[in-house]
Amino acid sequence: MRAWSRAARADGRRVGFVPTMGFLHEGHLRLVDRAATGSDTVAMSIFVNPLQFGPQEDLGSYPRALERDRQLATSRGVDCLFVPADQAMYPRPPLVRVSPGTLTAHLCGPWRPGHFEGVLTVVAKLFHIVEPDLAVFGRKDLQQARIIRSMVDDLNFPVTIEVASIIREADGLALSSRNAYLKPVEREVAVLLSQALEEGHRRYRGGTHDAREVVAAVRQVLSREATILVQYVEAVDPDTLAPVTTATDDTVLALAAFIGKTRLIDNIILGVGLGADERLAATAGTV
Ligand code: AMP
Repeated sequence: MRAWSRAARADGRRVGFVPTMGFLHEGHLRLVDRAATGSDTVAMSIFVNPLQFGPQEDLGSYPRALERDRQLATSRGVDCLFVPADQAMYPRPPLVRVSPGTLTAHLCGPWRPGHFEGVLTVVAKLFHIVEPDLAVFGRKDLQQARIIRSMVDDLNFPVTIEVASIIREADGLALSSRNAYLKPVEREVAVLLSQALEEGHRRYRGGTHDAREVVAAVRQVLSREATILVQYVEAVDPDTLAPVTTATDDTVLALAAFIGKTRLIDNIILGVGLGADERLAATAGTV
């Protein structure tokens, strides 16, 4: 991997990089487009990182479809697909890991202990292996993107981080590899996640700037379906990821909820709402 990357750089080409866990959908492929815009050649990694899954989480059942992914990635212009084996990445559990610090105090942090440490550790390893000039992440995983940016800034990684907007199904559901877990009736219910965020946006646009009231409006929509088990709904500062009392245009409204056994996350920037994100045409749904 590193030889490929160094050869590209020796040729004067900028290397763009898109790390993923595979089971690719249009959201991943837009990151490839974005990487291609800012670089001359694009590498993608597919690695389901054991280090970022908790003991009760879905590491064993995480969807995998390597041949399909290979075709999708290649036809979208990925020049190098890096698919390391677990044994290659972790010949033994790493003794040294990258700590995310206080950015995990809210949102997914308390619900997924060790998750972001696992993410940072694998992303640090991938950056050292791929040596990209540019790496692109999705705002779908807003806390992840923020923490990675912090790692890069605080630890002087020589890579530019870009964050792309969320790609959604026609009804507003954010694309996710985990949507494949949803049974048909759960898939119908899942639309409430983005609708709830949109309701928060509506309240804010209507003049409600008390963050508690905005959050309550989101929870109200989610409570319409008993099968939605909310983990959190929070209005946070985009930089510190700490809850705000007064909402502003920059405030991030984020949620995590279980629908059946499937844990989904979503977020909007309060001043923009779902309008910042692209919806696929009704027929173009990928999962
Ligand atoms: P994953 O394979 O789920 O680890 O995701 C790999 C990258 O794709 C991460 O940077 C995600 O934030 C990004 N991503 C996942 N879903 C979407 C989406 N619906 N829109 C944009 N980016 C996404």
